[in-house]
Amino acid sequence: MNTFFGRLKNALIRFMQGRYGTDKLNLVMLASALLLDMISLFLKAAAARAVLGLITGVLLAFCIFRTFSRNIPARTKELRFFENKLRNLKSLKTHHIYRCPGCSQKIRVPRKKGVRAEIRCPKCGTVFVKKI
Ligand SMILES: [Zn+2]
Repeated sequence: MNTFFGRLKNALIRFMQGRYGTDKLNLVMLASALLLDMISLFLKAAAARAVLGLITGVLLAFCIFRTFSRNIPARTKELRFFENKLRNLKSLKTHHIYRCPGCSQKIRVPRKKGVRAEIRCPKCGTVFVKKI
């Protein structure tokens, strides 16, 4: 492995040791940046293109920063936050999230079309009626 590419590969491996690398959040940001860049090709307004270009640049810069970052716990925390938000978004199809009027606790209730239900807050016991 003393070829040019072999040495390049070893140098890259040494450079990436102790760094975070890539994950699902980076891939989503990269795909979003690519999509926004493609959308901006079809826009005629220069201001809209500039805004999309700026958003794309910020996404790519954050993506590169995360990939080469040595602060692995912070990057893992960001990934967990993103996965939690994604899970919450997916559960909105099947569940409603209400806030208790008594204590502002978030309560997750399964959706049923056109049904009014009494919801009891598990934290403070307040009962309120919502269409779920
Ligand atoms: Zn409550």
